[in-house]
Amino acid sequence: MSTMSMKVLKTVLALGVTAAAAAPVVRIPGAYAAEVTGTVVASTPAAAGTSTVVSALPKVEVIATGGTIAGQSADATSFGNYRAGTLLIADMVAELPDKDKIAQVSTYQFGNSGSSAYSIPDLYDLSLRVDQALKTQDAVVVTSGTDTMEEIAYFLDLTVRSSKPVIVTGSMRPWTVIGSDAQANLYNAIKLAASGKTKYFGTVLMLNDEFHAAREVTKSNSYRTDTFVTPELGALGYIDEAGVRIYRAPARALLSAADWNTPFDLSKLNKSNLAKVEIAYSYQDAGAGAISSFVANGADGIVTAGTGAGGISRAMSAERTAAIADHDTIFVTTTRTGSGSNYSSGDNIIAGDNLNAVHARLMLLLSLSFSNDFDTVKGWFETYGAAQVSVPEK
Ligand code: ASP
Repeated sequence: MSTMSMKVLKTVLALGVTAAAAAPVVRIPGAYAAEVTGTVVASTPAAAGTSTVVSALPKVEVIATGGTIAGQSADATSFGNYRAGTLLIADMVAELPDKDKIAQVSTYQFGNSGSSAYSIPDLYDLSLRVDQALKTQDAVVVTSGTDTMEEIAYFLDLTVRSSKPVIVTGSMRPWTVIGSDAQANLYNAIKLAASGKTKYFGTVLMLNDEFHAAREVTKSNSYRTDTFVTPELGALGYIDEAGVRIYRAPARALLSAADWNTPFDLSKLNKSNLAKVEIAYSYQDAGAGAISSFVANGADGIVTAGTGAGGISRAMSAERTAAIADHDTIFVTTTRTGSGSNYSSGDNIIAGDNLNAVHARLMLLLSLSFSNDFDTVKGWFETYGAAQVSVPEK
């Protein structure tokens, strides 16, 4: 979709429709349903003849951006023939059975497009919208297409200021086909959000009853419903019926509240100042053209997706040296293997640790949007980019 038509759509759709038509509720501040059971508890003993109830159900806003989950298929068995980003989130949530037993759900239509249609300035707007919602909500669910979902999730992970749960979900089959994963994913994302269990986890991606850390997750298959994986390290946990089971935590969750926030406070940045960062993929005898073209087109930084432990071809390497000398371009090394750490660094070259290339690109883009000092950017990669587990003194 063109930027113009997306803007028009956004203006038309940015309505913030409340979907929950719950009975009058009194919120217990700060309370999450620790294990979501849909329990409604009485507040104070009711005076004779009155029937006041207090609901402890958390408030969850679903912010929709489109994707297959909002897809309208040609017919009920057209798994591949559908229009992504067609259905409205208010209608989808209204159709969802039993959601009022797990949360007070409201919806906000941010846009309705495939995930690849969004620009980085759009993600800037999305991140600010998520933080705005979290001023009044207990948690947020963001729906999006799965193609670039790992990037949308990691951008939010690096920029949202609130420590409340942010869950990104979508589906591999459109909403309107038999056996769609769309309804179950949306329901379970709301359930995970309402559980409050991922507070301080940053953004978490949930599909197929599993949830993953935004920093580590990647789409691994073009069609299967179990497409999202965290290579080698695995999911954070599962959602089974009422149970939300967490088996490990992202390193970031161990940081103190004071250190938890990243330096990337978008409210302090004009979106016209977002940096430009590209990815150069290396392969047998790769030429110099990717790097030279990116530099000629104004890239502030370049991530290399190298072979093995991050190596790049001779021609690419010579061009990288020239870009550093002539343009002060900052590079990050990653591996194209799909998993593993990376230690290749040098002057104007930062090791991307186990960030994959698209994750490293967002980390570098945000870093260069806030500083062009190499040591500062490198320091951010070593703390917020690397996110290695370290257990505080007991
Ligand atoms: N093309 C779609 C998108 O990324 C695919 C999906 O939603 O899964 O928006």
